[in-house]
Amino acid sequence: MAKDGNPNVTPMMAQFLEIKQDHPDALLFYRMGDFYELFFEDAINAADTLDIALTKRGKHLGKDIPMCGVPVHSAEGYLLTLIRKGHKVAVCEQLESPAEAKKRGSKSVVKRGVVRLVTPGTLTEDSLLNARHHNFLSAICEVRGKVALAWCDLSTGDFFISKCDPAQIFQSLARVSPKELLVSARQLSLVEDISQDLSISTTELADASFDSKSAIDKLSGRYKVATLDGYGNFSKPELGAMGAILDYLELTQHGQIARLKTPVQENVRDTVVIDPATRNNLELTNALNGERDGSLLKVIDRTKTPSGARMLERRLTAPSTNINEIADRLDAVAFFVNATLTATVSDHLKQTPDLERALSRITLERGGPRDLQAILTGLEGAAQIAEFLSEDAQLPDHLSSATRSMTGRDELIDALSEALAEELPLLARDGGFIASGFNAELDEARKLRDEGRSVIAGMQKQYSDTSGISALKIKHNNVLGYFIETPATHAQKMLSEPLSETFIHRQTTANAVRFTTVELSEMETKIHNAKSHALEIELGIFDTLAELVTRHADQISETSYALATVDCAAALAENALRHGWTRPTVDASRAFQIAQGRHPVVEAALHAQGAAQFVPNDCNLSCDTDGAHPIWLLTGPNMAGKSTFLRQNAIIALMAQMGSFVPAASAHIGVIDQLFSRVGAADDLARGRSTFMVEMVETAAILNQAGSNALVILDEIGRGTSTYDGLSIAWASLEHLHEVNDCRALFATHYHELTALPSRFDKMANATVAVREWDGDVVFLHEVKPGAADRSYGVHVARLAGLPEAVINRARDILDKLEKGEQQGAVKTSDLIDGLPLFSAAPTQPTPLQESKVEELLANVMPDALTPREALDLVYKLKDAMPD
Ligand code: ATP
Repeated sequence: MAKDGNPNVTPMMAQFLEIKQDHPDALLFYRMGDFYELFFEDAINAADTLDIALTKRGKHLGKDIPMCGVPVHSAEGYLLTLIRKGHKVAVCEQLESPAEAKKRGSKSVVKRGVVRLVTPGTLTEDSLLNARHHNFLSAICEVRGKVALAWCDLSTGDFFISKCDPAQIFQSLARVSPKELLVSARQLSLVEDISQDLSISTTELADASFDSKSAIDKLSGRYKVATLDGYGNFSKPELGAMGAILDYLELTQHGQIARLKTPVQENVRDTVVIDPATRNNLELTNALNGERDGSLLKVIDRTKTPSGARMLERRLTAPSTNINEIADRLDAVAFFVNATLTATVSDHLKQTPDLERALSRITLERGGPRDLQAILTGLEGAAQIAEFLSEDAQLPDHLSSATRSMTGRDELIDALSEALAEELPLLARDGGFIASGFNAELDEARKLRDEGRSVIAGMQKQYSDTSGISALKIKHNNVLGYFIETPATHAQKMLSEPLSETFIHRQTTANAVRFTTVELSEMETKIHNAKSHALEIELGIFDTLAELVTRHADQISETSYALATVDCAAALAENALRHGWTRPTVDASRAFQIAQGRHPVVEAALHAQGAAQFVPNDCNLSCDTDGAHPIWLLTGPNMAGKSTFLRQNAIIALMAQMGSFVPAASAHIGVIDQLFSRVGAADDLARGRSTFMVEMVETAAILNQAGSNALVILDEIGRGTSTYDGLSIAWASLEHLHEVNDCRALFATHYHELTALPSRFDKMANATVAVREWDGDVVFLHEVKPGAADRSYGVHVARLAGLPEAVINRARDILDKLEKGEQQGAVKTSDLIDGLPLFSAAPTQPTPLQESKVEELLANVMPDALTPREALDLVYKLKDAMPD
């Protein structure tokens, strides 16, 4: 594109091109009055993405300039669509009024500048965010083989940093699930595939942004500390990753200092390592179809506040391995299970707005009066909840420290409640949000403005009397300001003397004539001045209050965290009470003993369908005791509930370690530090992997990585290949788990041959899911009990699924033959099915062909030796030999 200085380029276009040059990767929202306009390729892209009209405006270098635009008042919706579809948007505002620009010369272009770069990881507006989920921006940095991941949520100020095993980048990113990932060009290859798999938008930053030395200066400058030691002992990659985040925030927020809490250093060992496949398989936050419905989070989330919901999600996606922390969380849940005030607290929580996000907007100077109100209501609600809680002398640690963080905010509460009016506009510039009586000068200006209005009301009566026109009205619009209007029928009278001496004509419309008077104009100016003065005072007060809020940011943030803690505990207690969940014991042992466990999501689904009750099952994988069987080999019919059983035990363990009561009569879990699952598989064609390859990659990860405190659930491995290949792989994997990994594991299979293994491996036991055969039918009991299944009833399930009757019958025959053959020791399938009748779609009981005579006739025939006559004779003979 051409630049300024070209005589063919208008000054405005020159300004556009100059600004655009600095933001080549973003769509430039160029403010023109009440619209954001987009030009050139930006317009073509945006019109296509937003499905809005593409127009043109003037010419550039002889060609039409493509253009499209969105109204400023509804821009957020369009922004959201663009961001969701992977675009970044540079918002370019007018930095002065057209009147100010004119002072520099009549042709001067209004000064404009980009005030913000909107990207997926830097959103702060409620309308662009999901209140119940975090919106993380993340940065990854590698220095000499060591990797760190930093992540922050600009909308809440949360900031985390963690070292990351280079082999576990995928796991870590899947856990944090950032919306945007910052990476240096040099290290892009580290995460390219991963971010594609996890649908994370990546942004390349210059290597310099990841420099650990300058990160120290940036961080100590931002937190105004001489040394970072107080926050932790950071490695080079950690510093680099944090530095990149700070750089990017500066770049996108254009000088506005985003509020970030001090970085919380997370130790990878403090949370359960869960790989992305396991997260998906267990449907922790999304069901397999990608929807929230059907996920574990959806079923257990009864939080009342957005910050509570975000905390619950954080806990579920990163269950703890810290026994004390888990116990503290469970104590808090237990308190609400037994307390009488739980419902009251929940009711108050429901009224509590999102303190963190309001605070973040205010500190970014993007807040409005309603954000101040949110902070006031939130702090008042918190104080009230703290009062209820402190009536109980037996508060557990988490709740007593939460109570402390929810009180002592009186100065701020008083200031805000005195200042704010009842009804508040969205934007400060609309005015009217400061209560009367708060500021004498404001009251005075408002009085003048209101008096002016009542004087004008008086004027209408006076003018109507003098003119004798009762239909005369004084009205107001944005173009003319105040004006006097009479119906067109009175035009002549108004425009003639003596009235024309007082009434000055301004406008004639189809039905009316409009006038002003010197007196009305003067009064309008007075009102206008009083109004602007009042607004100016209000904006001044807003700034003071915003400053006060910013000064108390840490306190507000602590209160918000405390509310989230209370909310999580009360919500989990509500689940426990509703569904009869119990407190698990989580300790440093290697126990895994669950009595009467249930799968919370399947149970909820059965309940919603009004179907049969969920059948609870026990599971005991405890190690380290005599006769213990930490590995269970689960066989049983299709549809019996094997997968459900596997998943429910993993889920119960995760729930226990996130600090929740669990759907079981009792649960004792020795803390688990890794959770692996291989459940079902799908092609990963995008990465060139077949179903079987995906299955093997996942199995390899488990066998290579699972340590002695891991929990592994394996569902039908080796199914995507030939029977003997699959059986051998399953067999060898099971042995490896037993001998090498030495972990707790559930292994479901249809290879009944494997049920012989527990007799050779002392830490392995057979378990099966019971069915009852009744009247030729199979009844699924969903009961897990010791022992091995001898068959899978797959044909029965196929019939339930609606396979044609002929296929079912045929399958039964083949199965029968195969099973008999197996018993007789036949090895080859061809031997086993030798003599098996051919497929026949029509009869339900295939009739054996009377082939002996036909065969006999054909046996000695040599086709090449037959004359045509002999051949014809043979056909007649064969026909005669056919059965009737
Ligand atoms: P397959 O071998 O065919 O994969 P499976 O044995 O793994 O089958 P699941 O998928 O676990 O079977 O369960 C099948 C269905 O049975 C579930 O969708 C659920 O509706 C029901 N079910 C499973 N377990 C239970 C239970 N304990 N109580 C009640 N219903 C159950």
